Amino acid sequence: MRIETEIKLDFKDVLIRPKRSTLNTRSEVDISREFSFRHNKRPYHGIPVIAANMDTVGTFEMAKALSQHQMVTALHKHYEISQYVEFFRALPTSNVVFYSLGISERDEEKFHQVMQQLGTMSAIRHVCVDAANGYTEKFVSFVQKIRSAYPDIVLMAGNVVTGEMTEELILAGADIVKVGIGPGSVCTTRKMTGVGYPQLSAIIECADAAHGLEGHICADGGCTTVGDIAKAFGGGADFVMMGGMFAGHDECGGEIIVRDEQKFVCFYGMSSKTAMDKYAGGVATYRAAEGKEVLIPYRGAVENTAQEILGGVRSACTYVGARRLRELSKRTTFIRVTQQLNEVFGKS
Ligand code: 5GP
Repeated sequence: MRIETEIKLDFKDVLIRPKRSTLNTRSEVDISREFSFRHNKRPYHGIPVIAANMDTVGTFEMAKALSQHQMVTALHKHYEISQYVEFFRALPTSNVVFYSLGISERDEEKFHQVMQQLGTMSAIRHVCVDAANGYTEKFVSFVQKIRSAYPDIVLMAGNVVTGEMTEELILAGADIVKVGIGPGSVCTTRKMTGVGYPQLSAIIECADAAHGLEGHICADGGCTTVGDIAKAFGGGADFVMMGGMFAGHDECGGEIIVRDEQKFVCFYGMSSKTAMDKYAGGVATYRAAEGKEVLIPYRGAVENTAQEILGGVRSACTYVGARRLRELSKRTTFIRVTQQLNEVFGKS
């Protein structure tokens, strides 16, 4: 047994220090980014904010709404083959939408079939290979397999939280490594297993490892406010993925539940009992649920949330004098704090 005593940080442990700058207004700030990936050199240009591939968030409707703002959606993996084919056939080339799959044979077969039906000019250009635990040999060889079968895709893979595994996945064929174990709003991994890593430190360490190899990272989970998104970018994330912040909107699917004249929407983790009952016929006997279900207030169209995110990130850039989002991490100094917010009038 070994103990690492160096302090690891979460979003709540820091604030971004303001800096003098020549920027006058946030309208001068460009928060889009351009990337060329390690394995796939197709240029990416857009706002690198991604709606998570959870079935309550990563919907076709979400993809349509967010692409209006050049934002990205990772679709959930539970649509039918014909639905994906229809969706991707109609997808404008400028929209960035990830097809997601796990590492089961069933997911792999389904993916091959979708790709086959779409044909050689497939509109699927972005793929996310997702496992709760990206540390297994099986996961690494799956990433290798997908990379060699589809050299033309931009491949995102995860999740991991440490530099050495980020490097391994990039060398195995990932363009973008997804970072985060346990920070999610409906995740109970840390509670059920004791495993995890403070998200901001995971981002800083994995970004450093990835950038050294011309790779990229996507910070996944744990953003509870727009300020957290700015901190993730400030820590070196190239993309930021969110579930909870995009949940509860019209585009999420799911019914609206009325209680005491207030509207709510159900949101749950993809490893929760709710999700496993829905898609896997219950929780298998060898495993425990590592996600939970919550009722969250209904929030209307995602448009307002998208605007909030764009405005907040732009403002963060203005405070540190970053004219472009790519400059944000270079201009970020985090200060450790003992308090984030003044909650005298409540938590919101
Ligand atoms: P959030 O933005 O809501 O804090 O985090 C979203 C992320 O939580 C997802 O992208 C995914 O990585 C993770 N996640 C989603 N469902 C579950 C689950 O049931 N269990 C765990 N451990 N993580 C989950």
